[in-house]
Amino acid sequence: MTLVDTRTPNPKQFIKGATGDWEIVIGMEVHAQVTSESKLFSGSSTEFGQPPNNNVSFVDAAMPGMLPVINVQCVRQAVRTGLGLKAQINKRSLFDRKNYFYPDLPQGYQISQFKDPIVGEGKVLLDMGEDGEVEIGIERLHLEQDAGKSIHDQHPNMSFVDLNRSGVALMEIVSKPDLRSSDEAKAYLSKLRTILRYLGTCDGNMEQGSMRADINVSVRKPGGEFGTRCEIKNVNSMRFAGQAIEYEARRQIDILEDGGAIDQETRLYDPKSGQTRSMRSKEEAHDYRYFPDPDLLPLEFDDALIAELAANLPELPDEKQARLIADYGITHYDASVLVTEQVKADFFEAVAKGRDGKLAVNWVNNELFGRLSKEGLNIEDSPVSPDQLGGIIDLISSGEISGKIAKDLFEIVWTEGGNPAEIVESRGMKQVTDTGAIEKVVDEIIAANPDKVAQVADKPSMVGWFVGQVMKASQGKANPQAVNEILKAKLGL
Ligand code: ADP
Ligand code: MG
Repeated sequence: MTLVDTRTPNPKQFIKGATGDWEIVIGMEVHAQVTSESKLFSGSSTEFGQPPNNNVSFVDAAMPGMLPVINVQCVRQAVRTGLGLKAQINKRSLFDRKNYFYPDLPQGYQISQFKDPIVGEGKVLLDMGEDGEVEIGIERLHLEQDAGKSIHDQHPNMSFVDLNRSGVALMEIVSKPDLRSSDEAKAYLSKLRTILRYLGTCDGNMEQGSMRADINVSVRKPGGEFGTRCEIKNVNSMRFAGQAIEYEARRQIDILEDGGAIDQETRLYDPKSGQTRSMRSKEEAHDYRYFPDPDLLPLEFDDALIAELAANLPELPDEKQARLIADYGITHYDASVLVTEQVKADFFEAVAKGRDGKLAVNWVNNELFGRLSKEGLNIEDSPVSPDQLGGIIDLISSGEISGKIAKDLFEIVWTEGGNPAEIVESRGMKQVTDTGAIEKVVDEIIAANPDKVAQVADKPSMVGWFVGQVMKASQGKANPQAVNEILKAKLGL
């Protein structure tokens, strides 16, 4: 791949070394398991958590004479992912054999795509907060088979092989070396996962191994030539990705500043020590002897298939974010929080439809999501439904309850359930907007506190104390705006 630098160096991302500033350069190869019922070239199930060797056909076990048959569903998923990455879709692609020996690879080769992948160049946009939007180039996406799993810890002197994963479809998504910090790398993984989840093409569960990243890291003087990279294999958590990059960049800087050179090698990250260590050097790298798989024809489809899949794509996070901002007048930041998960945006829209968008987003993002995360609950398990939250918001908008009472009401709905309007009615929580009643309380408080009245003439900010007294006397039910106006008039402010 020819490397092109598309980024302007950002001094905030530089790392200080003894000889001056350094810049990190990162490119990622993400393996994402395709969401499909059956494997890439056989009809075996892909179901997770089955007993060992439960999901294995003759093809997956590489019995002699067995022939692979492409799973159209996996092809459709790869094309949909390509469309989601705004990438070029290649109507003709090739499957190649990548030859190597491993006990859990019964064929002795992996079927992958080498020179002609199904998806070409695309892009992913990252929202880096105050540093603005960053575009990360996608080099390619190809389809390949997963290998089986060797199990070494169940017998004192034997290893076992579980072929359940053997032949499961993976998409390898290769980025350009466009990332410049561990934060960007984490944001990239997170955005990619969000897009895959929206598309339903990969569940993105890093803990279960359905998404894992090979992270290529190099360092250079800011804006200079690309340095020699090391590849950190199989990172399966966002946090570890960040830690591995930080460690690896520092290690390379130290070597270079000591007058050494970086060996291009494959390394592993050990979360326990927080360090990366060498796995194999470039000299030991496999020669995979790629060649087109003679059992498979070139993969060909027409524009109609692409058009059909494009027409049925869901609304993706970037488009959804722009629409939420336009439709509901909410901030860029609030919208970015909502689109991280489809259920979040859906919940918000169910609440905000026909209501004040700013009020709705405040209640959804701050009150509800805040409370859910405090209790460790998912949105799906929220005790407060969109209808109930909408009901609370309606009572605020109509002036029937104050923002403060609304919080008490939210608490009641959260713990006891029920219809917000009925709760307000039956428990007498309605806000007092009757100015006569408020005036009476104001008069009493002014009469009882002549010293404070004398002070407030010199120090108008003391009106806050009076507001507090009136609210207390009305048990929080007086309309705060009315209280303020009446107080100001009576105190001559
Ligand atoms: P290979 O096939 O040998 O792994 P590629 O050229 O396909 O190599 O690149 C693999 C990954 O390494 C890509 O994600 C690419 O962006 C990244 N990469 C290439 N050069 C560098 C570099 N100098 N520093 C960091 N990442 C790099
Ligand atoms: Mg590689």
